[in-house]
Amino acid sequence: MSASPSHAEMAQFPVAGRELLVGGQPLSRLAARIGQTPFYVYSRELLNQRVQQLRAALPLEVSLHYAMKANPMPALVQHMVGLVNGIDVASSGELQVALDAGAAPHEISFAGPGKRDPELVQAVAAGVLVNVESARELPVLAAASQQLGLPARVALRVNPDFELKGSGMKMSGGPKQFGVDAEQVAGVLAQVRQLGLQFEGFHLFAGSQNLKAESICEAQCKSYELALRLVQESGLDIRFLNLGGGFGIPYFPGERPLELAPIGENLAQLVDRAKADMPQAQIVIELGRYLVGEAGLYVCRVVDKKVSRGLTYLVCDGGLHHHLANSGNFGQVVRKNYPVTIGNRQGAPLELVSAVGPLCTPLDLLADRMQLPAAEIGDLLVVYQSGAYGPSASPARFLGHPAVVEALV
Ligand SMILES: *Cc1c(COP(=O)(O)O)cnc(C)c1O
Repeated sequence: MSASPSHAEMAQFPVAGRELLVGGQPLSRLAARIGQTPFYVYSRELLNQRVQQLRAALPLEVSLHYAMKANPMPALVQHMVGLVNGIDVASSGELQVALDAGAAPHEISFAGPGKRDPELVQAVAAGVLVNVESARELPVLAAASQQLGLPARVALRVNPDFELKGSGMKMSGGPKQFGVDAEQVAGVLAQVRQLGLQFEGFHLFAGSQNLKAESICEAQCKSYELALRLVQESGLDIRFLNLGGGFGIPYFPGERPLELAPIGENLAQLVDRAKADMPQAQIVIELGRYLVGEAGLYVCRVVDKKVSRGLTYLVCDGGLHHHLANSGNFGQVVRKNYPVTIGNRQGAPLELVSAVGPLCTPLDLLADRMQLPAAEIGDLLVVYQSGAYGPSASPARFLGHPAVVEALV
């Protein structure tokens, strides 16, 4: 079947007859098994494949972390714990899920601005690494350490003096709420020492959703140089150097998958340099979207098909309350269509339609004038690339429709 020309080519889910196969099952059967629409489904096999591709492309020495804010479903996090070297959490809620999923405390790091005091105490009690974003966290960690009689393990998140070019979301360079400005690191490190905290490394995270290998390589090199300078200036040994991530996935027309080979070669050079420059340091990269985004589908049902002044609408039982990103309201400047199809009409003649959700707002758009396989009421509309920033990043209670269900197959 030919995918709609209006989005990036999707090939990760095979087709049998008219049906997409997920985890080896035809989509309609899976929908019956789950017992309701809308739902999200994530494929273990695709998660495994993605990690295998990364392992094959990146040097063995690089430690691969999963940033679980991309998809915090407990069963999926548990699956990822078995595949990656560490889990990055961004709240005490996520910390709880990671620990429940069986992640070892020494494999967990905790980043995020505005960590509340009780969260910092929880992190020390759990024995996880805290990526410090502000000097304010330091005395709280020191007090927790004293009270609990446990070391407070800290790394410093650095806001570098550069940004990640071509990122969907920039998270470094210039004034930022994230991390400690590179210029302030020396002073903060002096406090770390004075408070007796266990300093373990640096964390740099330049941005998100980048499809240009050269930009990612450039950011990794600059991050490395900056960290090296900070190591040399401070005279401190580090155990971890987290170079961030930002690996993107294709969503829109003309977007091409990220090339891993150049990133692997670049990291191999940095790993080699690190052996001489900072021999105790483990190089870490942390990925969210890239690990899980392509492994997931959002599936909803067509409940009405109507024509308004010449445009055919598919009205579905799912929408932006479950999938804000697909509606274009999560970080997009100009709305573009996510890759969408009709999961049980593969190969059918195409029809120009708009697909919308059930909410009383024109923002609730699943597909804006796309060529989709001709659909009938009862069919299953599928949004690809939905494994990251789905339900947990959507306003579930808006308009009071039923909650979405998630399945890992
Ligand atoms: C959000 C975030 C990630 C994950 O970003 P992706 O674009 O999903 O890979 C990793 N690290 C930090 C610090 C983050 O805030």
